Amino acid sequence: MASRVIPVDPFDLVIFGGTGDLARRKILPALYRRFVAGQFERDTRLIGAARGAMDAEGYRAFARDALAEFAPELAGRKRALADFLAMLDHVTLDARGEEGWDILAEKIRKDRIRAFYFSVGPTLFGDLARRLQRHGLAHGDARIVVEKPFGHDLESARALNRGLARHFDEHQIYRIDHYLGKETVQNLMAIRFGNVLFEPLWNSQYVDHIQITVAESVGVGGRGEYYDRAGAMRDMVQNHLMQLLCLIAMEPPAKFDPDAVRDEKLKVIRALDPVAPGAVVRGQYEGTDTLPDYRTEAGNPESTTESFIALKLHVSNWRWAGTPFYLRTGKRLRERTSEIAVVFKDAPHSIFGPEAGRHRNILTIRLQPNEGIELGVTIKEPGPGGMRLIDVPLDMTFAEALGPEEADFPDAYERLIMDVIRGNQTLFMRGDEVEAAWAWTDPVIAEWEAAGTAPLPYATGSSGPDDALMLMHRDGRRWREIRP
Ligand code: NAD
Repeated sequence: MASRVIPVDPFDLVIFGGTGDLARRKILPALYRRFVAGQFERDTRLIGAARGAMDAEGYRAFARDALAEFAPELAGRKRALADFLAMLDHVTLDARGEEGWDILAEKIRKDRIRAFYFSVGPTLFGDLARRLQRHGLAHGDARIVVEKPFGHDLESARALNRGLARHFDEHQIYRIDHYLGKETVQNLMAIRFGNVLFEPLWNSQYVDHIQITVAESVGVGGRGEYYDRAGAMRDMVQNHLMQLLCLIAMEPPAKFDPDAVRDEKLKVIRALDPVAPGAVVRGQYEGTDTLPDYRTEAGNPESTTESFIALKLHVSNWRWAGTPFYLRTGKRLRERTSEIAVVFKDAPHSIFGPEAGRHRNILTIRLQPNEGIELGVTIKEPGPGGMRLIDVPLDMTFAEALGPEEADFPDAYERLIMDVIRGNQTLFMRGDEVEAAWAWTDPVIAEWEAAGTAPLPYATGSSGPDDALMLMHRDGRRWREIRP
């Protein structure tokens, strides 16, 4: 069964920062894969725009190397590669100067969808937006795509939003959170709102608690300097984990349309209680014989930035009052794994007696690796030995259920860039959502900064500091194991 590909209309896409790391690792490979899949025609222009002298040929050579490294599975497609490279062009320009902009404006066709990917630091967003307008490129159908980090706090996020809003309407602005492009994340909505089975149970009457874990096994590596100014709260919780929380907790939107979905997500963020100081655990990884510790990697021997954080949250509304949400994310943990677990309450009365033990249903949504969904159900242990109960998974690993071809999901960037061309904002963050997330995040950070607390050390390859385990144990609950 081959995946259906619905082609998009011809478009011109400008990648500001087209020679950067993100363009090399993600944007160009994502575009190439969509081209090979037949999603767009050769009548498309992909224009890199960056500082540094480079012509079209130079950019094609840059892209060829990037694709060899980051789309190696397509190495044999020589004809497709030649066709793809022929679409590429490059303009040398400075976001802060006038040089190069007229040349860029000439290359953009009037009768095509036009999109501008801001793959540069946020300090340049306002300059780019202003110059796009000044050069007549910002008309009503133009789209701009902006990367994370979208601000450092509420004030900076507001300033960024204001800078963009002067030249573009909200319907033209696509704020990327690549977590929203993941197949399983969208499946979360299909599971919740496409089945009658779960929705009646999706509330505090039946759900004991929800856990969201995004664990990485790597450290901060070459991003140390940036990361040390952000930390896990800003880098992961304010955006990615918050988005996952919203999709799990939101009310059913009336329809699957961008503003209906984003309205519901916004209500979740606004319903979040402030976090009690005792409900936050921050950690910093230690080194091993072969790996440096956090402070060394971050290049800051005094750093009090967290590389791990665990939090207990409450969504104060009718649906969720009394059901805690436990979130944790960190680097150098035991495995690279991300999952959401919805842990249902025990059956109200056990007819099987105490020896049958305690059993509960858990719905697990795995984001990586092995994207899939697992529902833990309780059954009788097979055999003649009386009524003993065990929990078994009803497992739907997509690769098994759908066949490897169907489960060969596009990378999040592939889907998101095509959504920009299609003009579908459902999987992008709206300005008010981002601001609301910062408005919730800022006081939590301010609290620990005022208290002057340092993060707790944790061993590389562990599950984070012991206090994070205690956060759950105190409530008579436990984290799911971080395992592959
Ligand atoms: P990078 O430093 O590798 O590349 C920056 C690019 O911007 C280069 O092409 C450079 O020529 C261009 N540039 C810099 N200043 C310019 C100016 N004044 N005018 C015109 N062009 C200019 O950066 P990156 O890693 O590609 O990241 C780009 C953006 O994407 C950043 O905001 C980053 O936070 C974000 N981001 C990156 C990653 C990643 O994996 N690299 C992931 C998520 C978000």
